[in-house]
Amino acid sequence: MQRDLFEEEHQLFRETVREFLAREVAPHHDRWEKDGIVPREVWKKAGEIGMFGFGVPEEYGGAGITDFRYNAVIVEEVIRIGASGLGYSLHNDVMAPYFVDLTDDEQKARWLPGFVSGELITAIGMTEPGAGSDLQGIRTTAVREGDHYVLNGQKTFITNGINSDLVVVVAKTDPAAGARGTSLLVVERGMEGFSRGRNLEKIGMHAQDTAELFFDNVRVPAANLLGAAEGQGFFQLMGNLPQERLSIAVMAVAAAETVLQATIEYCKSRKAFGRSIGSFQNTRFVLAELDTEVEIARHYVDKCIRALNAKELTVVDAAKAKWWTTELQTKVIDRCLQLHGGYGYMMEYPVAKAWVDSRVQTIYGGTTEIMKEIIGRSFGF
Ligand SMILES: Cc1cc2nc3c(=O)[nH]c(=O)nc-3n(C[C@H](O)[C@H](O)[C@H](O)COP(=O)(O)OP(=O)(O)OC[C@H]3O[C@@H](n4cnc5c(N)ncnc54)[C@H](O)[C@@H]3O)c2cc1C
Repeated sequence: MQRDLFEEEHQLFRETVREFLAREVAPHHDRWEKDGIVPREVWKKAGEIGMFGFGVPEEYGGAGITDFRYNAVIVEEVIRIGASGLGYSLHNDVMAPYFVDLTDDEQKARWLPGFVSGELITAIGMTEPGAGSDLQGIRTTAVREGDHYVLNGQKTFITNGINSDLVVVVAKTDPAAGARGTSLLVVERGMEGFSRGRNLEKIGMHAQDTAELFFDNVRVPAANLLGAAEGQGFFQLMGNLPQERLSIAVMAVAAAETVLQATIEYCKSRKAFGRSIGSFQNTRFVLAELDTEVEIARHYVDKCIRALNAKELTVVDAAKAKWWTTELQTKVIDRCLQLHGGYGYMMEYPVAKAWVDSRVQTIYGGTTEIMKEIIGRSFGF
């Protein structure tokens, strides 16, 4: 079925992004996988061609356009070349709403120009060693002392953890107040007492820097609190999580489509028993099933993108998109790997890299089980 989500301007933007990635990313990504990190220069180069912060008002260097279809174009093109090291979607899709919607004019002037230019890389610190799914169980605290908050605690698994300049840290400003006692503070590179741990060794996404962060009596200016008042953090997070989950769903469908297409081509050329493996009924049935499911997923996700643009995407809609598409992604890639035989297990074949890169998709941004809890609770049990 025809995909009718995009207009001409998105297609033009797609060509720009594709050309940029072919020139600045694809030839280097294997090296970055070995380095465990993407160089900061490639962030600045992406900033130069306008890849960050479409929704940022023009006075701060952005395009002033709130249209998630541009975000989707970038995600799809990055996935198409398997550039899983780029933390662009975390910056653009997850962090932009925090910096655009929850900041006052003074904060906007300080942070948004760098956000757009790629000179200020962002991250979010929710997860702690003792609390991931159960966000209310976090133990990081921020105690107000005059014009500052004194921040103590630890975060883990933080995407862009090494490269980031601005980290939105979730902390308890009033531990006795439950959800109403949580706030979001922006911790900046170089603040005394803020340190980074190891660049964590993962099973996939090797070029992505994922790190632990430590806060030891960090004096964060009160001017770095996000939102008008203390205690709003939990609600601010809940407000932004649907967009984060939709971004992951866009990634999931794009990855499944990419691997499926490559596998169909492989099945045409690979021979066994004197025939192409695509001529076996089992191969055709597997590919037919996967192709059907991916296309159905694609249409639901596109509808979610339209709903997000119309400010109608609910927490439940996004939870459905997130768990269904990421579970589908891992299934599709696993079946495609099987159709590659032994070559599917070799890292020189893109399906092998896609297989390890994809595994985390059902975990971060809220696990499949938590997504089902969110949907299940909506029935009013
Ligand atoms: C590569 C990577 C990047 C990440 N990036 C970030 C980041 O940038 N910022 C950030 O803050 N975090 C990040 N995370 C953390 C991620 O969001 C958490 O790992 C995730 O939310 C799960 O939390 P957990 O690891 O503590 O697992 P747990 O919460 O300990 O869950 C373990 C298992 O128990 C299940 N479970 C838990 N509660 C329930 C329940 N109520 N009902 C049923 N089952 C349940 C889970 O589904 C899971 O299967 C990242 C993680 C990874 C691996």
